[in-house]
Amino acid sequence: MPDVPFKGSDAVRLGLLDSDELPALEPLLQRCRLLQVDAGAVVLAGNIGNSAAAILLEGSVGMGELVGEVSALTGSPTSAWVIASEPSRLLELERETLLELANRSHRFAVRMLQTVCGRLYSSNLRALGSESAARAFEQKALFDQLTGLKNRTWLSQHLPALLETQRQSDGGLHFFMVDIDHFKRFNDTWGHAAGDQVLMAVGQALTSAIRLGDHVVRVGGEEILVLATQLSGTPQAAAVGERLRQAVEQQQVQLNGSDELQQVTISVGGARHRPGEAGEATQARADEALYAAKNGGRNRVVLA
Ligand code: GH3
Ligand code: MG
Ligand code: MG
Repeated sequence: MPDVPFKGSDAVRLGLLDSDELPALEPLLQRCRLLQVDAGAVVLAGNIGNSAAAILLEGSVGMGELVGEVSALTGSPTSAWVIASEPSRLLELERETLLELANRSHRFAVRMLQTVCGRLYSSNLRALGSESAARAFEQKALFDQLTGLKNRTWLSQHLPALLETQRQSDGGLHFFMVDIDHFKRFNDTWGHAAGDQVLMAVGQALTSAIRLGDHVVRVGGEEILVLATQLSGTPQAAAVGERLRQAVEQQQVQLNGSDELQQVTISVGGARHRPGEAGEATQARADEALYAAKNGGRNRVVLA
């Protein structure tokens, strides 16, 4: 790149200064150092103290037209390495010169503000990006990988709020413990992968049978807890339990490697949450009812 000295008119051409303010500011500009760098040169190293900003006159350093202004103005270490992506010319302004220019030229101050705001905006976008990544990570932790159902972690995070709502006014929350009947047989006869397929199918059937706002949680290997709210009393709870049971019974499963459709059934134990009762206590009562359903011959619903 030919060695061309910086002229005040360049600052006007670049829109950094108004032409009518140029004569008064020309001496200030003459205090600035002109930098000529080759492609690949480090214009500013990362994480160092820095007292000068630079205006890009020509070329590209991948940072827009102002470099290092944040660290120069705030005294904080530089946040990124700035490397010229092509031969470039930059005008270096020490902090005092930068501040004086901003003080004396309205246009220069506005341009600097615009550049800094643009920087802030893009770093906000990056922060938002990592926030959504964090959310995705959290989602993964709250849902069961195999069935897509909510998991125990979800339950421990969300049950307290659900119970608190119940404590304030009895919302008819019911716990239904669901256990697949003779599930071991599927594993033993067709293999573990087939057992997984049955689990997924049961999860889908239960999910299709609940109302919006109710929850299906895989709390154990093949034990699933359904939380249903706004059930007025025993008849309605019995109807919900029956709906869950039938949804599974009606959904026959085709296992990989088998031509036959498999009949899958579940046993269900239901318990109404008593306001103020611990979640574990309600779940234990639902478990007892489930035990009774198993003892009563399976593929049935028993309410505590
Ligand atoms: P019951 O009708 O009395 O419930 O009989 P069961 O055969 O279903 O008995 P039990 O509930 O004790 O069996 C649970 C079985 O579920 C044992 C375990 O190997 C299997 N299991 C647990 N988690 C998984 C899983 O993620 N995938 C598969 N394929 N099997 C699982
Ligand atoms: Mg079981
Ligand atoms: Mg079982």
